[in-house]
Amino acid sequence: MYGLGIVKGMAVTLKHMIETYLDDIRWIGRGGRYWNPDALEVRQNILGSRGAVTINYPEEKLPVPERFRFVPFLVTDDPPPGQSWGHDWCTSCGICAKVCPPQCIWIERGKQPNGRPKPEPEQFWIDIDICMNCGFCAEFCPFDAIKMDHDYELASYDRSAAHIHDKARLSKPLSYWREIAPRKAAAEAAAREMAEASKGKRRSKDDGADQPTLPEEHLQQLYYRGSGY
Ligand code: SF4
Ligand code: SF4
Repeated sequence: MYGLGIVKGMAVTLKHMIETYLDDIRWIGRGGRYWNPDALEVRQNILGSRGAVTINYPEEKLPVPERFRFVPFLVTDDPPPGQSWGHDWCTSCGICAKVCPPQCIWIERGKQPNGRPKPEPEQFWIDIDICMNCGFCAEFCPFDAIKMDHDYELASYDRSAAHIHDKARLSKPLSYWREIAPRKAAAEAAAREMAEASKGKRRSKDDGADQPTLPEEHLQQLYYRGSGY
């Protein structure tokens, strides 16, 4: 019916407006909706909040969902004790640079002392002003070495140095990836384990040894991966 969509839209707006006041009442006597830290937790929860809320950014921030993606970062091993850097996962294969639609990735491959190429980047740059946060680089990387970050607070007054992220700026340890994307990191770990297991299977087939099997929870994590995680 003509105009029904407008009525439905207005009803949703009205519901949000009423819920806003009802939520205010709910927190009376408990420190108030805007000052009680528990109320703040509820308001910052995308699924749990009711009514319209105002976020006093940057003092308050909404948590971002696991699949949120901002500019990429490079995964490294967690640094060994006493060291500041872990081993790079990137092999400088260049696939991410090839698939990047606006071509904002530049990689300089490492060299061994004898001049032969080394499977790790000497340098890696991403121009974050050109990056459109599409996530193709992370999707196509065969080594799980580049991931989309959740850090969106990158504004600065300096265009040249601050907006071209180099390898040092881009590198973050695996523990960081596990922290911001626990389900995806677990699914990737399971997939890598399965790939290793199937390699072992091929090897042990030749030797006639018992075949390794994956635990049930890892198979479930792989199912997650297949469904978008
Ligand atoms: S981040 Fe991944 S795709 Fe890009 S060069 Fe490194 S290993 Fe290759
Ligand atoms: S997120 Fe997209 S635009 Fe940004 S570096 Fe990766 S592939 Fe390029």
